[in-house]
Amino acid sequence: MSARVEAVRTAISRETRKINRPKDSLGNALPVSEFFGSMTFGLDDMKEKLSKSSFDSLMGMVNKGQQISKDVGDEIAAVVKDWATNLGVTHFCHWFQPMTGLTAEKHDAFIQSQPSEFGQPHVIERISGGAFLQSEPDASSFPSGGMRNTFEARGYTAWDPKSPLFVMSHTNGRILCVPSAYIGYYGQALDNKTPLLRSTDALSVAATKFLKIIGDVDVKSVVTTVGAEQEYFLIDRAMYALRPDLLMTGRSLLGRVPTRNQQFEDHYFGSIPSRILAFMQEVEQEMYRLGVPLKTRHNEVAPAQYEIAPIFEDANLASDHNALLMDVLRRIANRHNLVCLLHEKPFAGINGSGKHNNWSIATNAGANLLDPGKTPHQNLRFLAVLATVLKAVHDHSDILRAGIASAGNDHRLGANEAPPAIISVFLGHTLDKICNRLEKGEIIENSPEETVINLGVGSLPTVAKDNTDRNRTSPFAFTGNKFEFRAVGGSASIAVPITLLNAAATQAFAEMSERLEKKLSSGTARDEAVLSLISEVLKETKNIRFEGNNYSAEWVSEAKKRGLSNFRTTPEALDVLGSSERTKFIVDHKILTAEELKSRHNVAVERYIKQIELEVQTMLELVDTYVLSAVEKELSGRASLLDRLNEAKATKAGELAKKRLASFEAGYVSLIETRNELQAQFEKLSVEHNEAKRAHSYADRLMPLMDRCRTAADALEFEVGDEYWMLPKYREMLFLR
Ligand code: ADP
Ligand code: MG
Repeated sequence: MSARVEAVRTAISRETRKINRPKDSLGNALPVSEFFGSMTFGLDDMKEKLSKSSFDSLMGMVNKGQQISKDVGDEIAAVVKDWATNLGVTHFCHWFQPMTGLTAEKHDAFIQSQPSEFGQPHVIERISGGAFLQSEPDASSFPSGGMRNTFEARGYTAWDPKSPLFVMSHTNGRILCVPSAYIGYYGQALDNKTPLLRSTDALSVAATKFLKIIGDVDVKSVVTTVGAEQEYFLIDRAMYALRPDLLMTGRSLLGRVPTRNQQFEDHYFGSIPSRILAFMQEVEQEMYRLGVPLKTRHNEVAPAQYEIAPIFEDANLASDHNALLMDVLRRIANRHNLVCLLHEKPFAGINGSGKHNNWSIATNAGANLLDPGKTPHQNLRFLAVLATVLKAVHDHSDILRAGIASAGNDHRLGANEAPPAIISVFLGHTLDKICNRLEKGEIIENSPEETVINLGVGSLPTVAKDNTDRNRTSPFAFTGNKFEFRAVGGSASIAVPITLLNAAATQAFAEMSERLEKKLSSGTARDEAVLSLISEVLKETKNIRFEGNNYSAEWVSEAKKRGLSNFRTTPEALDVLGSSERTKFIVDHKILTAEELKSRHNVAVERYIKQIELEVQTMLELVDTYVLSAVEKELSGRASLLDRLNEAKATKAGELAKKRLASFEAGYVSLIETRNELQAQFEKLSVEHNEAKRAHSYADRLMPLMDRCRTAADALEFEVGDEYWMLPKYREMLFLR
């Protein structure tokens, strides 16, 4: 039996994995609220367990970034250690997000050695405040984009008290994870968390100032709220093990789309197969213990594709929780003999995976600034914030595009199932109409869909929350009380796009405040000044608004006419990070320094290059060791058949066999030729030392060649005898579970 057939047999005979649900003393399953967050330790717990003075000093650190003393640090560490050891935890780690796109952890046991009378080993369970608060991983092994010289290759991880501590349970033990920021010796950000925290602070300052000017004098700060909907694929582990491309690169480099794929539209929201549901339930149970409020689960559009979404949270927490979710999805999939693929496009020809980032801003009192609201003031504020967000996206669409650029997302953006690489904003029919009129400074009369409120400065409609009006093709859509940034890739760290979006919004708020102050100082009444500013900004940003079908070819040419950029590949999209003029606002608001920006640019280009090189090498290996070997068996079979038929004078069959051989031979030749061309080009282009240039040449010249090579191999897949084909086929990976 071939390995492929064996994998199929294994996959179809898997049993659904059973888990133990948390139960009460009578054996009844506990409701989620009873065990939610049971594996976390946050500020509430700190308050309960710490002395009052230590807790106050901790809050000084949380709110004002003040240093805490060694004694306070020791007290916190002791409290945490007690809590964790009671749960059976033996090790702790600083859990952080370096620029690899993954999370990192290095485990240390709680034990400390104690001096003993006779010099024999003796340990006790303890962590010092110092070790708890800060740690020094070997920084030279994480990407820094050239920011650190090796002699000062020191990096520190520092506890982020805004994100609760959590305990990860593994088969043979538990680990305490300390969410941490990761910074260099001179305070440079080396991770994705630090800039995100800076961006939420900057946005808070700029938005609060603006709100005060428009009359919301009680607002003290604002928070960024984020809910990330995660799409992913699940395939059986036995199949995965036989696909070097999935194993090495995260996506299938070859494989013909099966006759049945997603044309029946029967997978989306379809009933969830029991083995998959069991997986989802285990993920949810684990995540609830970790304090992550998962809310929604369903099948996605493509076969074997699913989605999971939490209730929104503060951006920092949402980002940590999404990173944790990606990790837990992968780990728990293994327990079910499944593999979770988070790649943006694991299977060509069917839908890919994105991560819709729902984003809004709320005041410290919890008022959502993108909620249209009920009073005239809330309405005016809503429209002002809406105009600000439009300005942010309009003025910095190139930066937002750069923030979602990756080799994986290139296969998704613009592939007629995901938003295009052109950034635009969808508002929905009602809101669009309102904006069109406000833009012209029109007084809005009463109409059935818009109730008019007299503001004394003209009339303004009450904006009804409209959840029904959806445009699934837009990269940035307003959905009733939040924006949905839909172009983010499935495997991406959401911290990056959210940081850049916050940066753009910060700059827009700052400019809005400045313009408004000017109007007010010239004596214009406040509401009137706000309204006229909204009107101006709506006019200035009009070309970023698009209500139509973003997948259509017309939009591509329309966007071009409007002067919107369309960066189709990652190298094109990343170039803007090299422009000090275009990135100035990020530096001005102290979200990233010029040096940090440069390093991020370098890391992104480098990652792109490495990914493409890996894919080309893997593809060549696959073609040589799997495809050609199968094709040659088939070819030899056809050739000897022809000989035998000729010997036997079976003329008619001989003629047909000759034709079959000839057409197959053409495919064989074409595959070898393309494969050779790919290799030759790769060898030529990969010696380029300038990385930006190399990345561009890969995108422009290697990628099309890889596509051609794939087409040639995939054409043969449907002709080669099934018994010779060693790679699990799409139909087997996508439909057997
Ligand atoms: P839909 O996309 O169909 O509107 P939901 O209402 O479930 O679906 O929202 C999708 C995601 O948006 C969820 O994660 C939800 O918590 C999140 N979300 C809702 N309101 C906000 C908000 N004000 N800020 C950020 N995310 C939000
Ligand atoms: Mg949604």
